[in-house]
Amino acid sequence: MPELPEVETVRRGLEPAMEGARFAKVEVHRGDLRWPLPADFAKRLEGSTVIGLGRRAKYLLADLSSGDVLIMHLGMSGSFHVFGQERQSTPGAYYHERSKHVAHDHVVFHMSSGAIVTFNDPRRFGSMKLVKRAKLDDEPLLRGLGPEPLGNAFDAAMLALACKGKKTSLKAALLDQRIVAGLGNIYVCEALYLARLSPKRRASTIASKSGAPNERAARLVDSIKRVLNDAIKAGGSSLRDHKLTDGGLGMFQHNFRVYDREGEKCRTPGCPGTVKRIVQNGRSTFYCPSCQK
Ligand SMILES: [Zn+2]
Repeated sequence: MPELPEVETVRRGLEPAMEGARFAKVEVHRGDLRWPLPADFAKRLEGSTVIGLGRRAKYLLADLSSGDVLIMHLGMSGSFHVFGQERQSTPGAYYHERSKHVAHDHVVFHMSSGAIVTFNDPRRFGSMKLVKRAKLDDEPLLRGLGPEPLGNAFDAAMLALACKGKKTSLKAALLDQRIVAGLGNIYVCEALYLARLSPKRRASTIASKSGAPNERAARLVDSIKRVLNDAIKAGGSSLRDHKLTDGGLGMFQHNFRVYDREGEKCRTPGCPGTVKRIVQNGRSTFYCPSCQK
């Protein structure tokens, strides 16, 4: 499952092809994605212009001149490919290999910019949905989401208040999309490692009884923002270098500090620890028991 930094690099890669451009023609080869595309999907898009391409958690949101918002989600295996006048690219840096088989190009956007944008998804867990902009606040996909981790609303005070009295683990709290939106397994492990906090620690211990943030909350928020920003930067630079056009393993994998490093020596300077893997809520957690307390 692509995580937030990957989705953000996809957004930045699609922006030049789509923003300010009109949908000249839309082809739907398979409408049975995670949920069926509406029968009038292509018709509603054609002729409208993309005013802006934004992101909320792991959803891409194309704001259209028609008053609709096109919501797109990559699912497990979805990817976009851009065929331009000059070159082809696959925006975004992916941890897992993406398919390039044309049989899986389910939706094709022919943009007035001359770019052809294809949505490829072998497993079809990805999704697209058109909603009225005026109804966006009521949209079930987005309604329950907490603040964006890179936004100003996400700070130590907010996180501490959300974790106040919570008996669940810190890791479970950070994966809870109502507390903070868009964080997934990899970057939660990375952030906890950077903050030197144990993933098993009770969530409530980053706050006082009244919900005021302590030093741990501040460290954790800083770490979350840092790991996400670092990953977006790495994805962005790989995008510029065109290293990702073959859809191979992205750069992110090599930048992980703790994720997927079971049995390796801890990278924290001076720490004698070894990275351990445990399972929490059915998901692998990688952490250093020596320096993460
Ligand atoms: Zn360590």
